[in-house]
Amino acid sequence: MIEMDDAIRIVLENTQLIDTTTVDLMDALGYTLAEDVRSDIHMPPFDKATMDGYALQGGDIASASSNTPVVLDVIEEIPAGTVPQKVVGQGQASRIMTGAPVPDGADTVIMVEDTESEANGQKVRVLDVTQVGENIARLGEDVMVDQVVLEKGALVRPPEIGILAAVGVVRVPVYRKPIVGVIATGSEVVEPSLKPRPGQIRNSNGYSMMAQALRASAQIKYLGIVEDDAESLKRVIGEGLDTCDIVMLSGGVSAGVYDLVQDAMRDLGVEVLFDRIRMKPGKPLTFGVKGKKLVFGLPGNPVSSVVGLELLARPAIRKMQTMTMWHHAQVKTVLKADFRQSPGRKQFVPAHSVPGEHGVWTSDWVGHHGSADLFALARANSLFVVDAEVEHVPAGTALDLILLEEW
Ligand code: AMP
Ligand code: MG
Repeated sequence: MIEMDDAIRIVLENTQLIDTTTVDLMDALGYTLAEDVRSDIHMPPFDKATMDGYALQGGDIASASSNTPVVLDVIEEIPAGTVPQKVVGQGQASRIMTGAPVPDGADTVIMVEDTESEANGQKVRVLDVTQVGENIARLGEDVMVDQVVLEKGALVRPPEIGILAAVGVVRVPVYRKPIVGVIATGSEVVEPSLKPRPGQIRNSNGYSMMAQALRASAQIKYLGIVEDDAESLKRVIGEGLDTCDIVMLSGGVSAGVYDLVQDAMRDLGVEVLFDRIRMKPGKPLTFGVKGKKLVFGLPGNPVSSVVGLELLARPAIRKMQTMTMWHHAQVKTVLKADFRQSPGRKQFVPAHSVPGEHGVWTSDWVGHHGSADLFALARANSLFVVDAEVEHVPAGTALDLILLEEW
């Protein structure tokens, strides 16, 4: 039996980087970049007006004010998306729109609010001074050709999608999302489409585990329900090892005579690195490796399975893709009501928590026992952590709180 911190360390030490692939731009959301991304152009690609107004020579308007306006000849109009045709000389101005290239000869853009149009737009009265060079974004000011704009390892979020589009990367080099193969074990377990007969239960874990794996940024492959039979287990776990990066099982890891998962793993050449964690819920949690492949045997109880997957498997799914945020965010919380436990194992307790003042949250145990666990979990958005030796946690006591963010 090992401590939870050691279990997490062992899982991460045995998690290796996955191979890479390329995906279309709009499929890249949520992936991690497998290469540095460089710009193929200068940005801005030309000196660009940042205001609607007039491009002119700053020296011409050095003395302009509303009492002594300077009048200039307007020689052309430059909408965004066009190329200026005329050079701006002394005493001249070109009407320019935001985003349009600044014409040769001009060194300044005065905003339209500081001007008045005259003579049907053929002249402009400038009513104020502006600094020379004002309201122009310079060529390459944001990014130069070949400059790295996104680093290898960056998570692709909406702003990264925008940057990839800006530099013309429509096929994006990314780390592949690991395929998590999910197996539900138990001769009592039937598919959700069936009405359970006496002695049977529906497979809820297999589906909630697949949903969690998707949220953790994996791909999923459903390998089905396997009865408590050594040969069937070996066949399906073997299929998982052949076709997936991570095999995740529900049930069959306790100490009962029908709990055959560990043996099946060993028979298939999986090195079992731990099979008991000093934690509640979820003590009989099994983890093994075969080459780069990881196998998690999660307990059948829904709360155990949720906690094991979020705290042990999710970091591995993310580390395979070098995501920097492997673990859920952790904050401090105080409990709304007293909490008691029989000491001995560190406990992770599903709770409904709300943020409070000074960054401290308030947590309400959602309550769970037996088969109602699954329903209690629907109210949880976090897990508060009670140390192994603690028996009584009075209301108001500060504890660590693990936020299950993207539920
Ligand atoms: P086990 O870990 O196999 O001893 O299972 C522990 C408890 O979880 C038992 O009450 C099982 O019936 C239940 N259980 C096992 N597998 C599932 C599943 N796929 N969906 C829902 N409950 C399950
Ligand atoms: Mg079972």
